[in-house]
Amino acid sequence: MNNATQHSQVNDKQRTAPHAEIAVRPANVSALAAELSAAIEGEVRFDDGSRAVYATDASNYRQAPIGVVLPKNVDDVVKTVALCRKHGAPITARGGGTSLAGQCCNIAVVIDFSKYMHHVLELDPYRRRAKVQPGANLDTLRRQAEQYHLTFGPDPATHDHNTLGGMIGNNSCGVHSVMAQFYGPGPLTVDSIESLEILTYDGLRLTVGVTSEEELSRIINEGGQRGEIYAGLKALRDCYADQIRTKYPDIPRRVSGYNLDRLLPEHNFNVAGALVGSEGTCVIVLSATLKLMPNPAVRSLLVLGYPDAYHAGDHIMEVLEHKPVGLEGIDQALIGYMKKKHMHPEDVEMLPDGGGWLLVEFGGDNKEDADNKAQKLMDELKKKDDAPSMKLFDDKEQEHHIWLVRESGLGATANVPGMSPTHPGWEDAAVPPEKVGPYLRDFRKLLNEFGYQCALYGHFGQGCIHCRIDFDLLTADGVKKYLAFIDKAADLVISYGGSLSGEHGDGQARSMLLPKMYGEELVGAFREFKKIWDPGWKMNPGKVIDSYRPDENLRMGPHYNPPPVKARFGYPDDDGSFAKATARCVGVGMCRRVDSGVMCPSYMATREEAYSTRGRARLLFEMLQGDIVADGWRDRRIHDALDWCLACKGCKHDCPVNVDMATYKAEFMSHYYRYRLRSRHEYAMGLIYWWSRAALKLPLLTNFFTQHEPFAFIIKKIGGIASERRLPPFTKQTFRDWFQQRQSNRPNKPRVILWPDTFSNHFLPEPAKAAVEVLEAAGYQVELPPRPLCCGRPLYDIGMLDLAKKLWRQTLTALQSEITAGTPIVGLEPSCVAAFRDELINLFPNDYNARRLSQQTMLLSSFLRKIDYRPPKLRRQALVHAHCNHRAIMGMKAEEALLNRLGLDYELMDSGCCGMAGAFGFSEKKYDISIKIGERVLLPAVRNAAQSTLVITNGFSCREQISQTTGRRALHLAEVLALALREGKQPSSDDDPEFNVCSRPRHPAFSLKGSGEIFNEKDN
Ligand SMILES: Cc1cc2nc3c(=O)[nH]c(=O)nc-3n(C[C@H](O)[C@H](O)[C@H](O)COP(=O)(O)OP(=O)(O)OC[C@H]3O[C@@H](n4cnc5c(N)ncnc54)[C@H](O)[C@@H]3O)c2cc1C
Ligand code: SF4
Repeated sequence: MNNATQHSQVNDKQRTAPHAEIAVRPANVSALAAELSAAIEGEVRFDDGSRAVYATDASNYRQAPIGVVLPKNVDDVVKTVALCRKHGAPITARGGGTSLAGQCCNIAVVIDFSKYMHHVLELDPYRRRAKVQPGANLDTLRRQAEQYHLTFGPDPATHDHNTLGGMIGNNSCGVHSVMAQFYGPGPLTVDSIESLEILTYDGLRLTVGVTSEEELSRIINEGGQRGEIYAGLKALRDCYADQIRTKYPDIPRRVSGYNLDRLLPEHNFNVAGALVGSEGTCVIVLSATLKLMPNPAVRSLLVLGYPDAYHAGDHIMEVLEHKPVGLEGIDQALIGYMKKKHMHPEDVEMLPDGGGWLLVEFGGDNKEDADNKAQKLMDELKKKDDAPSMKLFDDKEQEHHIWLVRESGLGATANVPGMSPTHPGWEDAAVPPEKVGPYLRDFRKLLNEFGYQCALYGHFGQGCIHCRIDFDLLTADGVKKYLAFIDKAADLVISYGGSLSGEHGDGQARSMLLPKMYGEELVGAFREFKKIWDPGWKMNPGKVIDSYRPDENLRMGPHYNPPPVKARFGYPDDDGSFAKATARCVGVGMCRRVDSGVMCPSYMATREEAYSTRGRARLLFEMLQGDIVADGWRDRRIHDALDWCLACKGCKHDCPVNVDMATYKAEFMSHYYRYRLRSRHEYAMGLIYWWSRAALKLPLLTNFFTQHEPFAFIIKKIGGIASERRLPPFTKQTFRDWFQQRQSNRPNKPRVILWPDTFSNHFLPEPAKAAVEVLEAAGYQVELPPRPLCCGRPLYDIGMLDLAKKLWRQTLTALQSEITAGTPIVGLEPSCVAAFRDELINLFPNDYNARRLSQQTMLLSSFLRKIDYRPPKLRRQALVHAHCNHRAIMGMKAEEALLNRLGLDYELMDSGCCGMAGAFGFSEKKYDISIKIGERVLLPAVRNAAQSTLVITNGFSCREQISQTTGRRALHLAEVLALALREGKQPSSDDDPEFNVCSRPRHPAFSLKGSGEIFNEKDN
């Protein structure tokens, strides 16, 4: 194969062109920053931390920007461009930053539209048009359009966190591009654009769209900057029209190169169309008017199983004849990776037999209509000798899960255990759909020739194939081999009449291959096109045209050599390497979703990149690089970004590559605070185990001070606790004391240890008492650990890891005999059980007893499920909120199974994080954000629930957040099971059950500081 390496056509002669001149002098940078700050309403960030956060996108590349601007309105953008022009600074526009080819990082002033300019401005259902700001998210638009049974056709897999500006920049497409092709304006974003309001680097502001020949003449005759641009475009069109017609492949997914074809008369001199896909290299989009299309009321999913992906590819056309609304393909390797990563294991099992699958979606006015279309295809296929296996799904939930399998593509193919890391770089080439089968066979041959591995999946119905290949980008030879490969892969795709990129764009990963696809002359036309718009070469320079080479600016290239780190955790999933852990993030940006899942609550509340999992991961990565962020473990900016992490562990579960920010935060804090004092709040909350034990001596006196003014106010002030918060009172009798005083003798019963966490023991013993009742009813003898112990949960957040380790050693010693005996240990507080499951193993990766203890410890629901406990029925309604650690580490399956057995009519909310997250919500600094997070879903839902509806959640802090803001007393599952035992014996028509279950008083909801400000900011 090394022959192949020598064959690389991408050689040094192929330019390092105008981008070499793009740097601005440092003196200008500070002047620019100062003038921007004075001029605009939005935010101006030229500090090293912000530059680090924006240094990369989802690609292989990394370039630290000059600075970052977050404009609040069009006026800000206009002023920013004017000042950049004054100082000669280049500009890169940015939306979600999910680009895969390097077009969204640059040595430029990055303008991030996603934080403030993210609104849908107008939606006209009659004209089927919508006007959006560039930072608006596709799903935000789709949700609004859906009210009128309309949608926006192209839907990238990043639909819930990308932006329309970015889609326009990249000319994005997606699963339903097939639908847009058959039933709408066309498959690509460009087909769904009516007009764009744009701004050039020179400061010209225009609205562009299709232009009749008369209008064109008029504009040219009017002269001025606009006239010159239009005249230049017309001359370009007239000169290259024939070449454009012959050399642009006529396929659904031609995304590489500029859309010069849209200037042809057959496209009505569509200037907006020509700018779509220009990847921010020509103009800035200020707003866009989009075409919407009808959204089928109902969809049906048919999955076809073929012997392999190649055979699946051979049968695309016969499926396309039936005009589905989606036609995707996946191969066996993808399923293998998913199994290795334990991703969606049950969903994978639902696929029909085969080694390559086509997911065919049909739309209809009603279910029968959609099913009939699927049935018709099935009937036809059945008649064939090589008929595939088939499965028509008629359950919406199952359909959703099958789509999850397809959408997991990137997550499943990144960081596969036992495999070298995989990368983008050749991940979205497209060929004519009728040639998918033969192309895939040849492509696999090429991969084998180079010894590369990857799964093949993607938009088979439009010939666009995805793969993440295990390129070795860390060694010089590996990089040469990668260059040789993309060179040959380009030849292959061009021989099939295809496009280098079928949806992600050229960026710098593919632009040097454009002459192969279009020829030098048309590439010259691209250069002229850019020059018409951006004669000074300041718009995203070095991308698409006259680009950086694909092997320049590599984020992890042959130079990558992070320093060795003496880490406090073991990082068993990253070969013990903290550096490897910080490089996990591949930039997908799912942590930038704002309205579903848990990850990432602090981003949801702030829309701040540095407060997303990705932003934090990038900062830690940069900390180890040491060039942009130079203060290492002592860096204040990294501290701040991590300080706002709630350590909810949402990312460990929701992130497709399982970035575990809570652990990295604990790691960082432990280094940051070495030989330094922490804040008062951190001592107050982090050492709660010891404060509680001290308060044990005089709980009534302590409560007098914590519950009465002005003492409470003073205590909160000293502890850095928000004045709006109520300090939970200590219980008069600890749970341990209660347990030891009660009469219970259940010899000869199997033993179970109940773990009395600090909160159950010292603050709220009812759930623990209820758990004793339930466990005994289940036939067990309940015991407590021989002495007070603590898992150290509050210590991780602040990085007091030595203390946490000391506590674990006490626990391991105290429970030694129970560990050896394998006695089950039941915990009630999800964050404590999560510490046994997660932190314990990570701190003691080589300790067998730690592993045993971790396995032996479980939540009440898991234990009851394990012993097949059948509770009495409880015919009530309930609203269930999952504690973040519970959902992320243990999962909710056991909980749901038990709730089902109870016969409860319950809703498990997609409520994300409650916002309290242990100490977080008590902090005076974080109170507002804590409330904002809770108000997203959980707190309004609780307020709207009937008093007779049980509110169930197992976390002490979730219950505290609910109690302090709604007045409701949420119940722990143990209390609900105890209620079932009581009501089972004597059915009750009680419509205020929580009052009877728990003796704790119902507090009035606190009046919330700044609530209008916090809650009324409703996103579109
Ligand atoms: C896991 C994964 C799956 C993906 N799946 C798909 C897919 O199915 N289909 C698909 O098409 N893509 C896909 N992509 C690529 C990418 O997500 C999409 O192209 C997305 O639409 C880009 O949106 P963004 O907001 O992140 O754009 P960004 O990455 O922020 O920007 C994209 C380009 O647009 C430019 N730009 C942004 N805003 C403006 C503006 N206001 N004016 C001018 N230029 C601007 C930028 O400079 C950049 O060149 C995927 C990426 C990932 C990581
Ligand atoms: S632990 Fe939670 S808050 Fe912290 S980065 Fe992950 S998802 Fe965000």
